[in-house]
Amino acid sequence: MTKQESKICQNCKQEFVIEPDDFDFYEKIQVPPPTFCPDCRAVRRMAWRNERTLYKRACEKTGKQVITCFAPDSGIHVYDRDVWWSDDWDPLSFGTEYDFQKPFFSQFRELLGKIPMPSVFNSRCVRSDYGNHDGELKDSYLVFATWGGENLLYSSKIMGVKDSSDLLVVNNSELCYEAIGSSKLYRVAYAENCENCSDSYFLYECRGCNNCFGCSNLRNKSYYIFNEPYSRDEYLKQLKAFNLGSAAEMEKFKAKFETIKKNALRKYANIVNSQNATGDNLTNVSNCRNSFDFSNDVRDCRYCINGGVKMYDGYDGYGIGANAELLYESVDTGADGNKFYFDIFVWTGNDVHYSYACHGCQNCFGCIGLRKKEYCILNKQYTKEEYKELLSRVMSQMKEVPYIDKKGTAYRYGEFFPSELSPFAYNETIAQEYFPLSRAEAETAGYAWKEEETKNYSITKKPEELPDAIQDVDDSIVHEVVGCAHVSSGGCNEKCSFAFKIIPEELRFYKKMNLPLPRLCSNCRHFGRMERRNPIKLWHRRCMCLSPESLVKEGGYRNNSQHFHKEERCPNEFETPYAPDRKETIYCEQCYQSEVV
Ligand SMILES: [Zn+2]
Ligand SMILES: [Zn+2]
Ligand SMILES: [Zn+2]
Ligand SMILES: [Zn+2]
Repeated sequence: MTKQESKICQNCKQEFVIEPDDFDFYEKIQVPPPTFCPDCRAVRRMAWRNERTLYKRACEKTGKQVITCFAPDSGIHVYDRDVWWSDDWDPLSFGTEYDFQKPFFSQFRELLGKIPMPSVFNSRCVRSDYGNHDGELKDSYLVFATWGGENLLYSSKIMGVKDSSDLLVVNNSELCYEAIGSSKLYRVAYAENCENCSDSYFLYECRGCNNCFGCSNLRNKSYYIFNEPYSRDEYLKQLKAFNLGSAAEMEKFKAKFETIKKNALRKYANIVNSQNATGDNLTNVSNCRNSFDFSNDVRDCRYCINGGVKMYDGYDGYGIGANAELLYESVDTGADGNKFYFDIFVWTGNDVHYSYACHGCQNCFGCIGLRKKEYCILNKQYTKEEYKELLSRVMSQMKEVPYIDKKGTAYRYGEFFPSELSPFAYNETIAQEYFPLSRAEAETAGYAWKEEETKNYSITKKPEELPDAIQDVDDSIVHEVVGCAHVSSGGCNEKCSFAFKIIPEELRFYKKMNLPLPRLCSNCRHFGRMERRNPIKLWHRRCMCLSPESLVKEGGYRNNSQHFHKEERCPNEFETPYAPDRKETIYCEQCYQSEVV
């Protein structure tokens, strides 16, 4: 076992630590240890995934207008998604001889500029053209990174949801609005970190509750308002008086909800049924470190975000898993896969490295768009013997002839694709969602930036001209172009689309749920939800139970029960996504369980 080692990140020049078991993993898959720190590695991967920036272009095979995530000026050829997946074209016809004079990454980028890409990364979706990275969706609009669902609007990273709008990371729910990090909700608006709740509004970290309003940390309660019990009749009377169909009233409750959340007791991280795990939003994982939104039979993974489901021995992934083993530095990769390193959108197969959009392949390197192929390099077919011989020469050449980016960073064998070769600008990708930068910051850091296109529409309704109450909204609203409130308040850095339309399905949803019309465009709403989640970062902290700062805090949390540490401050320490300067009261698992039962 190698000892722990500190290194300076090639990219941000900050120190980072490689743990002894990390070295074991790198040794096992025979890659050199990373030269970028974990955060810079995450950003580098994310810079290759444009989840929600969509354009209209013609399919270069059929001429049909399609929705695509590749901008018309990205230099990428685009085929309609269904045409791309058909046998109507031959990816091997783009094959090129490896040039030992040129860096590998330059040759890969040249190939990427020649070969068609699918317009979007969707599978088996019906009447859901405005979306990307979706699967098995029906009748949905502006929904991203979502699997299985119908009648969905303006949502991201949800699974098994029906008839809902404005959700982020929600599973198995129905008739929901503005919910984040929750599951099994029915008829709930404004909920965060909740499970098994129904007919409720403004809930934070509640379980098994129904008919509750503005509550936090509740278990199996009904008819509670601001954590106080009511009779059924009183509850219903109060709720009517709240006038939730009014935008002005709703704004007041949204502000109050922020205070409720600030004062709610927080568990150091949302880790359930797991052993030896650090990160946030982990369920059924063992021996995993620094992973987020990663669940369901996961073992020996590090630095993984989004995914799971039978994922073993994976390092540095975004959107990886689904029965996969030995994955490294990959995005959207797995699905019955084994030994996938430095891959983007590679499903099923084994030993595919430095490849993009290859499926069912084995022993391929530097390939794009292949299906069920073996022994290919840069889309050129070789025999098994030729492949082995050529691959070992390519790998040594990658060490000797590195790609040098415009900042002088060297990319040898063992590095993921440089961000500057991505077909996407920084703010088109999920990097901007997890690590938001201003235009100036992005450009200083060497990332490409894309100004939002000024669309050729004129705003016919300012947000302040919208009817306050949903019952006063008539069907003609679907013909209006509504200005986003962020524009009138001076703009934002949230990919604001400046104006938006209310579509008929959406209007029906608000009427049915008695919710006022939104005043912000769907991008600004999405970035608002992203901001309300914890960052994908960890800090080492001590439990705040009976800490001096929590005891003197005005309106701070007071214990209701005796804890194992009696009158002393709790000694437990943990890794938490709550930064030390956060205002919330953060408890360890034991103290949290003593209070919230
Ligand atoms: Zn770094
Ligand atoms: Zn906006
Ligand atoms: Zn504690
Ligand atoms: Zn305690």
